[in-house]
Amino acid sequence: MPTGHKYSVDPSRLDGVTDEPLFAAVAAEAANQDIPAFAIGGYVRDRLIGRPCKDIDFVVEGDGMAFAMTVAKRLNAEPVHVFKNFGTAMFMHGDTQVEFVGARKESYSRNSRKPEVEPGTIQDDQQRRDFTVNALAISLNQGSLGALVDPFGGILHLDQGLLRTPLDPDITFSDDPLRMLRAVRFANQLGFTIDPATFEAIKRNAKRLEIISAERIHTELNKIILCDTPSTGFILLRDSGLLAEFFPEFLELAGAEEKFGIGHKDNFYHTLQVLDNVCAKSNDLWLRWAAVLHDIAKPRTKRFEPGHGWTFHGHEDKGARMVPRIFRRLKLPLDDQMKFVQKLVALHLRPIALTKEEVTDSAVRRLLFDAGDDIDALMILCRADITSKNEKKKDRYLKNYELVLQKLKDVEEKDRVRNFQPPITGEDIMRAFNIQPCKLIGDIKTVIKDAILDGDIHNDRSEAWQLMLATGRKLGVEPVVLEDK
Ligand code: ATP
Ligand code: MG
Repeated sequence: MPTGHKYSVDPSRLDGVTDEPLFAAVAAEAANQDIPAFAIGGYVRDRLIGRPCKDIDFVVEGDGMAFAMTVAKRLNAEPVHVFKNFGTAMFMHGDTQVEFVGARKESYSRNSRKPEVEPGTIQDDQQRRDFTVNALAISLNQGSLGALVDPFGGILHLDQGLLRTPLDPDITFSDDPLRMLRAVRFANQLGFTIDPATFEAIKRNAKRLEIISAERIHTELNKIILCDTPSTGFILLRDSGLLAEFFPEFLELAGAEEKFGIGHKDNFYHTLQVLDNVCAKSNDLWLRWAAVLHDIAKPRTKRFEPGHGWTFHGHEDKGARMVPRIFRRLKLPLDDQMKFVQKLVALHLRPIALTKEEVTDSAVRRLLFDAGDDIDALMILCRADITSKNEKKKDRYLKNYELVLQKLKDVEEKDRVRNFQPPITGEDIMRAFNIQPCKLIGDIKTVIKDAILDGDIHNDRSEAWQLMLATGRKLGVEPVVLEDK
């Protein structure tokens, strides 16, 4: 069984846990009230492998909400937020988020992920969890204080780097299909392997993802995209059949066709390479999303042109138009974040296109104007997009890229068009020609903007004022104010 994950398990990391104030308080209340209490789940897993964790879950065999109140009082950690619908209660202990819930047994119906819930024992609670490594608990009860409670071999699997369900995987995944996405997410985050029997069950149950809301799906997908190398997660999503269920456009990228001995690169792997490259440079989720989507329209624009080979004309514009549809379906935010992704997809060829011809100042100014404050993000994406296996080509692209980068810097220093504010406003124009709002004003503003971007005048108010006067006259209006006062 392949292991080789980056963590090592050390049970001595639990030493002294019950001396820590939070755990000591829970143990004291458990003894006082004679209610079995346990720390459980992700916190226990992360502590054993030495991974930082900022939230701690506790389970009690009894009323979790009432128990939370008494612990919070003991720690002076009020207020307690109670979520009656979920039967949970939460408070902050320093900057740690602490949550309590009563141990429960669950039974699911086939068409919903809302289970019938009834009180249960710690073991009932552990077996309804997603993976054995997430089902580990620490006892906070007299007689077994600080002991690991591990009925499903979680510590062994943690050591092996294995994700395996506590119950028959078909039951675990059918009860809550979101767990299949969580398997991929944990495999990617922790560098773990999904146990073959568990993976086969994901393949069998992938279609069940249809009962999961888009919000829950995108939450897990975003966690995958935020991993160090999300390519691993995406490949698992494809191989398990999950990707086809919620992101078919991405799957369409796969495959390299050949005609007359001419092939093109497999855009699935290319996109993943670009994504990993971006991830090495930026933690920004939306820049990472731009990498995911930058070539999304390639399959739909692909042509074989005799004499030319494979082309993907217009894939950047078509791709930008696909972004809102994909975001809407996945219920991702449709405002600034979506617009940012859309803009980067639309512009992703521009910096490299610049290098194909002579890099003129005006082309650089146009790019700066169009990208605005997102120019740095765009340049990260473009650099990541240089994945050619042909070393010569790659070298040439990289040199050109550096050249464009330098030009961008020079031109911005000189002309400040990155946050272009027109030097002449609509009000200036109305005053100068004594006219009411009309189309002419927009026309004059466009002439001035183009003249600045083309380098015909400087980004300077008095030069722009003169051009405004001349343009107005050409368009048939006589100025009444000649001097800019
Ligand atoms: P992270 O906080 O990094 O997302 P985590 O393992 O703490 O990882 P949470 O979503 O915080 O995950 O959930 C805490 C614990 O609750 C998990 O460790 C697991 O035991 C349990 N859990 C959460 N979601 C599910 C689920 N859908 N099915 C079964 N158990 C779950
Ligand atoms: Mg957690």
